[in-house]
Amino acid sequence: MQSRSVDRYVFATTAGGITVSGWDGLPAQLEIFTVTVTVGSETVPDMRFYGGLDHHPIRREIQGWGVAVELAGVMQMLDAITTAKTDIGEVRAALVDIAETLERKWLGEGVRGASTPDSLRCFGDCPRCEANVADVRRIRAEVNRRRERYQYPDRYPYAVSGRSVHRITCREVKRSMQSLGFTSDTAEDEERLFRIELRAYTHTDVRHEEPRLPLTPEEFDRWRAERVGPQGGLRYQPCKICNPDIALA
Ligand SMILES: [Zn+2]
Ligand SMILES: [Zn+2]
Repeated sequence: MQSRSVDRYVFATTAGGITVSGWDGLPAQLEIFTVTVTVGSETVPDMRFYGGLDHHPIRREIQGWGVAVELAGVMQMLDAITTAKTDIGEVRAALVDIAETLERKWLGEGVRGASTPDSLRCFGDCPRCEANVADVRRIRAEVNRRRERYQYPDRYPYAVSGRSVHRITCREVKRSMQSLGFTSDTAEDEERLFRIELRAYTHTDVRHEEPRLPLTPEEFDRWRAERVGPQGGLRYQPCKICNPDIALA
């Protein structure tokens, strides 16, 4: 088969190109490729193909998945079949060749955190993701527990993480409560968002920061007691932003 070169066609002059909303609702980079495609005696010049767009998982086992195409170019090919300038096998082979070329490029770049065709097609439902379901559910439950506590600052006047102690009113605590973006109103949405988070957890380096842990005064006393060394040294420190009123001994 004759080879086709797929060259990146720089469509946008601004750095970074065009940003679109990706399958997971996060910003994705629209990529535009221009390919002159010859099928039989018909040539479709400068035909556009697009990457970075949203594709339904229902067709992910079919060749060509993950690539969008300029429909008018496809029409020209169909017309060429009708007039016997090419045949349907040649058209199909050409489109598959382009899709596979683009997929090799994306896998080389680690698009969607993927290094294999299967992981590229994962929507939070591959075997690796399924193995992490319990972990991600546990993380979400803990995040929800902390956010719930945050609603009652009188009951939970302190918040901790690592070595740091904050007042519950500290802006750093507030920021940490907002760090995990996935909240939803409906069960269906909840499941969809869970799968997005699961996929990110499994296939990418994305790790959401856990909110600071709000504590009651009694819980805080215990937390603090566990962080006093044998020689009386303290393994905790008050936040410099909110300067919580705690005894340092
Ligand atoms: Zn997966
Ligand atoms: Zn603070």
